[in-house]
Amino acid sequence: MDKNGDEIRCYLRGKILNEYKLKKDKLITLDIAAVGDIVEFNLNEDGTGVIEEILERKNHISRKAPRMKGASYRGERLEQIIAANVDKMIIVNSWELPKFNNRLVDRMLVVAESSGVAPSIVINKIDLDESNVRNKFVNLYRSIGYKVFETSTINNSGIMELKEFIRNSVALFWGHSGVGKSSLLNKLYPDLNFKVGEVSDYNKRGRHTTVTAVMKKVEENTFVIDTPGIREIDPYGIKKEDLGHFFIEFGEFIQNCRFNTCTHYHEPGCGVIEAYRDGKISRERYESYLALLETIEEDLFF
Ligand code: GDP
Ligand code: ZN
Repeated sequence: MDKNGDEIRCYLRGKILNEYKLKKDKLITLDIAAVGDIVEFNLNEDGTGVIEEILERKNHISRKAPRMKGASYRGERLEQIIAANVDKMIIVNSWELPKFNNRLVDRMLVVAESSGVAPSIVINKIDLDESNVRNKFVNLYRSIGYKVFETSTINNSGIMELKEFIRNSVALFWGHSGVGKSSLLNKLYPDLNFKVGEVSDYNKRGRHTTVTAVMKKVEENTFVIDTPGIREIDPYGIKKEDLGHFFIEFGEFIQNCRFNTCTHYHEPGCGVIEAYRDGKISRERYESYLALLETIEEDLFF
């Protein structure tokens, strides 16, 4: 996209590909230029562009890349960048159909926090909620300091509030299929068609990647990144002793831990366990933490 918001199809110079590999020893990045990157490019006569430089990213959201047939990546970390320079991550859930899953929310919060992106939570389909159980979670996340939007695309609850919140930012929407992400985006920005589906890959080297993030300008100074087809964005590459820092309410208690390598699981003198026992950290969040700790232990040796 140029300064006027017009779309220009761009190609990468081989030079950039090589430089990138050298800079990152052992880390292969499958997508050299990602959605949200700010680049310098030269315009060709045919209207296409050649990317000369990718400017430094303030942050990026990535995931462990899917393995590809016939390739060997032993000992190397494979990373697929989904989007760069994101201001806000909007974690979209439904209350019903599919059922709200706070473990999933907590995993996504860790992805955002560890990437340096500010997360917020949307609970959609509240028109289907006939209980008061929702308040427990809404209050929990608000008490930690996260914004929680309760929405319905059927009766328009919370839509204007969410739109106002996104204004003047680059917002990435993430949610499992069926939660109503497309319905929400189309309610928020009825003039745009967000049913974008799969996006073909223009990588000249013929390597097949499955990037399907798409950025759209939705208002002046406001950009939305949709992630159709991206089913999982799970945390990876996080050290056990760092995980607790991405459960942001643990922070003040981690200072009290006796060991600075504490994983807040079984260690004596752990400030987090003490806070959990005193009811200052919720059971839900602490259990999410333990569940993640286990998967991350395995993950480090993939
Ligand atoms: P996506 O896969 O997350 O993009 O979900 P869709 O936008 O395709 O919606 C999935 C289904 O949920 C569709 O049948 C929608 O009509 C329905 N849906 C979306 N938002 C709401 C809502 O707020 N309330 C209810 N009851 N259904 C909704
Ligand atoms: Zn501890």
